[in-house]
Amino acid sequence: MATSQSPQHVVVIGAGMVGLSTAWFLQREGVEVTVVDRYDVAAGASWGNAGWLAPALTLPLPEPAILATGVRAALSPSSPVYVPLSANPRLLRFLVGFARHCTDKHWRRAMGVFNEANAVALDAYAEMAGAPGDVAVDAPTKPATPFLAAFASEADREVLVEEFRRVNAAGGSTDYTLLDHDAVHALEPALGDGVQCGVTMNGQRYINPGEFVHALAGAVKTGGGQVVTGRSATAVTQRGDRAEVRFSDGSTIDADAVVVANGTWLGQLARPHGVRTIVQAGRGYSFTVHPDEAPRNPLYLPTQRVACTPLGGPTDGLRVAGMMEFRKPGAPLDPRRIKAIVDAATPMFRGVDWEARTDEWVGSRPCTADGLPVVGRTKSSRVYVAGGHGMWGIALGPLTGKLLAEQVAHDRTPELLRHFDPLR
Ligand SMILES: Cc1cc2nc3c(=O)[nH]c(=O)nc-3n(C[C@H](O)[C@H](O)[C@H](O)COP(=O)(O)OP(=O)(O)OC[C@H]3O[C@@H](n4cnc5c(N)ncnc54)[C@H](O)[C@@H]3O)c2cc1C
Repeated sequence: MATSQSPQHVVVIGAGMVGLSTAWFLQREGVEVTVVDRYDVAAGASWGNAGWLAPALTLPLPEPAILATGVRAALSPSSPVYVPLSANPRLLRFLVGFARHCTDKHWRRAMGVFNEANAVALDAYAEMAGAPGDVAVDAPTKPATPFLAAFASEADREVLVEEFRRVNAAGGSTDYTLLDHDAVHALEPALGDGVQCGVTMNGQRYINPGEFVHALAGAVKTGGGQVVTGRSATAVTQRGDRAEVRFSDGSTIDADAVVVANGTWLGQLARPHGVRTIVQAGRGYSFTVHPDEAPRNPLYLPTQRVACTPLGGPTDGLRVAGMMEFRKPGAPLDPRRIKAIVDAATPMFRGVDWEARTDEWVGSRPCTADGLPVVGRTKSSRVYVAGGHGMWGIALGPLTGKLLAEQVAHDRTPELLRHFDPLR
């Protein structure tokens, strides 16, 4: 529990997976929380993502292969990684920093950190589910039985298998099995003629992210916290040992501490507190289809960079997600990206009416150039940040909340948090 010097009341800005997880773990430490969001619960990236809690695939984004194949492809709107030609100096600064981190040496260092995080990330989910009484988060995390990746050729598969070897060489423990043509089709009848072989991974889980984050908000409210929507924070200021959040309507909330957890928009509020790391929108797209025979487990098409997740009940359908578009987060949904995902996925499935897709969505992964989150105290002792998880804020959000709550409530910095220092 928090001590008498600990903050008694903390405001969290952002009601996504990261902000609400932080609020939940702070509450467990006996801290009163107010979560504010400019729109609603799960209004950002935490809604339409793939919901994978997949340690085998939770890897740093900057890696040498992206540079080797990516630069030419990145300028094509149908490429899975898209960078529009633009004179935006902030984006250029991010891209130069990102390119600098696409080295083998950096990847191994970042992978060591991810291995540490991955080893305990699902434990934080288990704590949320196993909490006593009403404050447990009432939404399932489901085991993938198993988690399957499908490929058009053995050469394509070798790219992922080589990545697993490198992860294991960096201290990871990815447990995988190779499947031939017949075995992969026997395992997953929804796969199409384009699939020649597969890989299964054990020990992975998944969620319906929108459902989970709403349940998390419900647990925070039941625990006595406030979740206030429709209020946009414009500034955070520290005065003495208090912190104040100012909103667009001129109103303020004063608290013992503030956690800035507003996803891809984190920079503007955090910069005055010494956080120089750029958090860049890596926009991804998703939509839902209803295959004749719906997969019962998540399905990954690594070559096409497409992620598919069954959303739950038989009528909920299959979410299909993909793309990494480095653009402004507020830019409108670009239908060319949806079409690129459809074109890439079509040969790999059968029995899917792609034209009948619903829930087209675009959301912004909060990406950092070094691939590591920014989590912890800023140079203002009462102002903290939690974000920059890029492709993996769903898998790592609860762990982030747990580590940060320890720093806020007990003034102790867990070892793992040191890697995420927002002042780096
Ligand atoms: C296509 C796609 C697939 C993905 N798949 C996975 C996956 O399978 N597994 C995984 O781990 N991750 C995945 N991700 C990444 C994951 O979605 C993000 O890392 C995660 O959701 C980030 O959570 P967050 O809470 O930091 O940000 P967000 O969910 O974006 O939340 C930020 C919140 O802050 C609010 N906000 C913004 N500015 C303000 C302000 N000024 N005042 C008040 N509120 C504000 C926003 O409205 C929003 O609700 C995927 C992302 C995409 C796009």
